[in-house]
Amino acid sequence: MPLIDLRSDTVTRPTAAMRAAMHAADVGDDVYGDDPGVNHLQDYAAERFGFEAALWFASGTQSNLAALMSHCGRGGEMIVGQDAHTYRYEQGGAAVLGSIQPQPIVNQPDGSLALRDIAAAIKPDDLHFARTRLLALENTIGGKVLAPAYVRDATMFAKSRGLATHLDGARLMNAVIASGQAERDAVAGFDTVSLCLSKGLGAPAGSLLLGNREVIKLAKRWRKALGGGLRQAGIYAAAGLHALEHHVTRLADDHANAAHLAAGLAALGLKVEPVQTNMVFVEIASEDLPALTLYLPEQGVLAALGARTRLVTHLDVSRAQIDAALAAFGRYYAVKQHAAATFRAATRPLSPMTGSLPPGLAELYGSTT
Ligand SMILES: *Cc1c(COP(=O)(O)O)cnc(C)c1O
Repeated sequence: MPLIDLRSDTVTRPTAAMRAAMHAADVGDDVYGDDPGVNHLQDYAAERFGFEAALWFASGTQSNLAALMSHCGRGGEMIVGQDAHTYRYEQGGAAVLGSIQPQPIVNQPDGSLALRDIAAAIKPDDLHFARTRLLALENTIGGKVLAPAYVRDATMFAKSRGLATHLDGARLMNAVIASGQAERDAVAGFDTVSLCLSKGLGAPAGSLLLGNREVIKLAKRWRKALGGGLRQAGIYAAAGLHALEHHVTRLADDHANAAHLAAGLAALGLKVEPVQTNMVFVEIASEDLPALTLYLPEQGVLAALGARTRLVTHLDVSRAQIDAALAAFGRYYAVKQHAAATFRAATRPLSPMTGSLPPGLAELYGSTT
């Protein structure tokens, strides 16, 4: 039985068709700019998303970092959400490797950064302060889609204050599919956009950075310094192109599966947050975590269990597997309820002033009379 892996959409494996495209890739040395597949993918993506240029990276972390470094420079500051991947989940690489000062501000419940908070965080031009250079947003963020009107307002506001804008769009295509927005509209206000070809799109590795020629040239220099100059990367580019051509519209299936999973968990009496894309957040009581941590893998279900458990749907999880995962959760809670009811029934006579223990327990513990 194949595992039902709900830990993340990073676990997707290349399909047979994607592997065939990789097998057939014509390659060259991309550090010399010689790899035809990489060049084609970069041109294709730049055109598709309405940018002058694009650059392939081995990972989203590296693509984000090269973009942040290109915008901020040493001692520059970026305004970023407290919950943003670039601030929280990349080891502080912008500060550690990029000499950038992050200025984190709180994410609103919808994932946005309030314009008044952004305004308050911009430093005056004074030698006491770092130079505020960049506003970095993320879409989707925690499975939530930033409202298109908000993105327009925030990027326009940043520009009006002389800031560059970067979008960590690791799951941008999920946002596009969920919102029904045109791809070009979703990225229109940003100077740079990082987009994951791995994750839900199913390539084994790769991210694209979109921007104008100047910023992409800078990012390409940083990519080499960061150890990201790959040679025959066309094998990966072939997978990335296949992902963009064949795996975007199907993200709607992942979103429908996530909604189905959320509804099923709610029907079990669990508290589930509203679902917008391919992530389900569900509250699991601490008393249930040890048993579920043992039981679910036994049932072929992998999940990153915690008080706020995140379950992620993707290319490698079918509707039938979502139903199987729901059935596993359902069995756990049914057995738990049954055990609790049986225990209550068996121990009721133990309350004060009642008579003898029921037969089974009387043998074990003797009579209370
Ligand atoms: C996964 C992810 C990244 C980084 O991508 P890697 O390829 O794992 O380095 C960046 N931002 C967000 C929002 C992500 O989910």
